[in-house]
Amino acid sequence: MPDSPHPDRPVILVTNDDGIEAPGIAALAEALSALGQVIVAAPDRERSGAGHALTLSQPLRVHDAGPDRFRIDGTPTDCVHLGVFNLTPQKPTLVVSGINRGLNVGDDVTYSGTVAGALEGTLLGIPSIAVSTATDDDGNVADYGPAARFAVTMARRVLEHGLPERQLLNVNLPQGDPKGVRITRQGTRTYRAAVVERLDPSGRPYYWIAGADMTPAGEPDGDHAAIDQGYISVTPLDANMTDTRGLAPLADWELPLP
Ligand code: MN
Repeated sequence: MPDSPHPDRPVILVTNDDGIEAPGIAALAEALSALGQVIVAAPDRERSGAGHALTLSQPLRVHDAGPDRFRIDGTPTDCVHLGVFNLTPQKPTLVVSGINRGLNVGDDVTYSGTVAGALEGTLLGIPSIAVSTATDDDGNVADYGPAARFAVTMARRVLEHGLPERQLLNVNLPQGDPKGVRITRQGTRTYRAAVVERLDPSGRPYYWIAGADMTPAGEPDGDHAAIDQGYISVTPLDANMTDTRGLAPLADWELPLP
């Protein structure tokens, strides 16, 4: 179990989907330690694209990876679940997921293990933030510093103001020095899906799903547009997926009993 709790210090649970050895989570954990006791519970390997998967069909193992640091053979959602119920000395004050290597904007939000880590915190009644940063064309992040520092700013504000029930924050940073911060909506456009088909050494085809070029930014107040223009994007997301526009029209369908 972690060190004994410091009652005056918030407990901050940190996870990610790039795996516990990723540089982004190290930068995040170190930066957040200025605000409270940071407990890291993260996957033992990359689980990008895991979405909000919860492992129900097999046991999970938790390995000690240093003081207040736990390596888990599960998804980001598993890590937050175990983190909250089994690995923290008290219910965490905050959950922060990231810093993801790559943006999580538009439709990608639904695939993202990073966002799902924060979503799990929200569902468990804890204010939660997902943090992701853009990469260069080779998929690298030169410096996690800006994202780590902005994560601390966001964490401070959330600790101060709280968040409405069922709301999580999805934070994305552009490459380089941000021009400012925009409050945005989740955009509707995203990477065009691409599947690479190749042959294995035995001549049998295999398929590799990969994102291709990003389609042009749509909505001017969307997350894509903010990033394209060099701004940090902060999007409030609702954990409740009901689309209230559908309630009245569906009632009009007068659905018969089977
Ligand atoms: Mn990732």
